[in-house]
Amino acid sequence: MRRSAPTRSLRVPVVALLGLALHGGATRLEAQAAEGPYDVLLRGGRVIDGTGNPWFRADVGIRDGRIVALGDLSAATAARTVELEGRYVVPGFIDLHSHADEGLGEEGAPGSPGARRRAVPNMVSQGVTTVVVNQDGRSGWPIADQRTRLERLGIGPNTALLVGHNTVRGLVLGDDYRRPATPSEVERMRDMVRQGMEEGAFGLSAGLEYVPGRWSETSELFPLVEEAGRGGGIYIVHERSSGLTPMWYWPSQDDPDPPTMIETILEDIEIAETTGVTTVATHIKARGSDFWGASRILIQLIERARARGVPIWADSYPYNTTGSDGTTVLIPDWFVQRVSREERSPGERPDFAAALRAALDDPELARELRGDITHEIGRRGGPDNLVIMDHPDSALVGRSLQSLSEEMGLSPVEVAIRLQLDGDRGRPGGARIRGFSLSEIDVEAFAARPWVATASDAGVALPGDGPVHARYYGTFPRKLRRYALDGGVLSLEGAVRSATSLPAQILGLRDRGMVREGFAADVAVLDLDRLEDRATFFEPHQYAAGIDYVLINGRFAVDGGRLTYELPGTILTPSDARSRTARTVSDR
Ligand SMILES: [Zn+2]
Repeated sequence: MRRSAPTRSLRVPVVALLGLALHGGATRLEAQAAEGPYDVLLRGGRVIDGTGNPWFRADVGIRDGRIVALGDLSAATAARTVELEGRYVVPGFIDLHSHADEGLGEEGAPGSPGARRRAVPNMVSQGVTTVVVNQDGRSGWPIADQRTRLERLGIGPNTALLVGHNTVRGLVLGDDYRRPATPSEVERMRDMVRQGMEEGAFGLSAGLEYVPGRWSETSELFPLVEEAGRGGGIYIVHERSSGLTPMWYWPSQDDPDPPTMIETILEDIEIAETTGVTTVATHIKARGSDFWGASRILIQLIERARARGVPIWADSYPYNTTGSDGTTVLIPDWFVQRVSREERSPGERPDFAAALRAALDDPELARELRGDITHEIGRRGGPDNLVIMDHPDSALVGRSLQSLSEEMGLSPVEVAIRLQLDGDRGRPGGARIRGFSLSEIDVEAFAARPWVATASDAGVALPGDGPVHARYYGTFPRKLRRYALDGGVLSLEGAVRSATSLPAQILGLRDRGMVREGFAADVAVLDLDRLEDRATFFEPHQYAAGIDYVLINGRFAVDGGRLTYELPGTILTPSDARSRTARTVSDR
């Protein structure tokens, strides 16, 4: 571990200490503060403590990985003093929906690419100090093995694990999963959830739009959620559908009346109400131009449930485009799969252009394809909100489907077909397209609710990786910059709260998520004048600006705006987090 050299540590004469101690108004805290020395002293900043309260002026004294003093510490000494000159100290952000598990498990000695991934630089650089992983129903198994492995490797941010419903369902049902589980299978899943919780998980994650969770009934989820909740665990659930139809749904292929987002929220409320378990409708959204504005209904359903005592919460990311929007393919997936499965000579790529041209000669098939393309254009936000990110003809890059439609004098559906016929023949859809399938109105409405935490839904990235969603680098600064400071959708303190004490409370973390004596020294220092997310969809691998220091368990993960690639994180367990073993100033 790199130890930073002390800077400008103040030597306080004994006489001054004596004077402070003898002064009539001197409190115990002041006397303690003057004692020092601290490992780290953050001096001259304003503290936004994570509760939602407005900032106050305080120096922050850190020792042994804990915040041990807050207040006027101008007379204290420290191994390392950082002068903040009016910058803001906030609790480190707690990312309630993270896919960092994909990079946290990478092998590699210090300095290697694997170790750099384990530092989760794209998130830590945003001020994130804790990630909650194994989302969308997908987890390592057994949890004890995953935990041991991460502890052995060493990790950047603190990490909380979940048990994945899809993982346990897959292990119990095997290949025969396109059906409801039998009672004995549910019992076996329940045993696995119990085991996962005993091994240190914080709860159960579900991905009900995915395989094999898609085929689970609500009655299967009740006992599993109940089991997760027995030790105070939570249930965090990826919706069955985020709009009027799930992502797997194609009008020409599937039965009508698939689940909608409204039904998903009603199911989440029913589960939370029946089991009493803290339930999180994760990455809450209203997808598709035919569903925009539905945040109003979803919010009202949740707030009415909350008013009658149902423990339901949500999280969201501050973007109007989703993860899967980044790989929008307007040619329906069933057709892509069919072409991919066709027999070819070894090494030959599928030719989607030729297959589509042939299919369009069949009137029935052409009708189905055009109907499904129309459906997909709407689901991805409509022709105005579909942008070409990559295409063999570089003149098309950055153009919307709508603008191409006007230029070519063709309907958006025919443009989508032309993109396949004239584009990359071996690539489904012929081009890389990003949809912007969410409305800013809904994104803002969710972001402003006090029961909606900020979460990234992002994994680990290093500059040089392939295209990723901008949220990988920008989620937390963007919530503060765009939605609080510039947009006024919520207060700065409210935006900080949504990423700190709120997720801590949802998880039951008793000693993180606030800048408070006795709490873990997970903090970030922000320069609000410079604070800005810089990642864009064409250039996503850009670190945010204005996050000058990040400490995780008292160690610098970002120092003077530079990543240290240190691995100070621990695997959090509910028993540690909830027993509150923290030493406080008054204990000393
Ligand atoms: Zn998800």
